[in-house]
Amino acid sequence: MKKLLKALPLILFSAIIAFSFNGEDPRTNISPNTKVFICVSEGAYAYHYKKNCRGLGNCKHEIKEVTLEEAFKKGKKKLCGWED
Ligand SMILES: [Zn+2]
Repeated sequence: MKKLLKALPLILFSAIIAFSFNGEDPRTNISPNTKVFICVSEGAYAYHYKKNCRGLGNCKHEIKEVTLEEAFKKGKKKLCGWED
């Protein structure tokens, strides 16, 4: 019983980590073929679901519609901060 009590916080901790990873990984519930919008700029690192997004409003370059897979290949691996 003492051993179990010692292990319990560790199990809970692992469960919390696993849960938050699931919530933060955009690839778990989005298909690589999903259409997204990216700003074709070296500095841009995010992809967008909406073309009229506030994040894309700052784009001084071309806005391109690509699949999520293409966006990742081009280094846009993060969902824009203005979207959820
Ligand atoms: Zn956006």
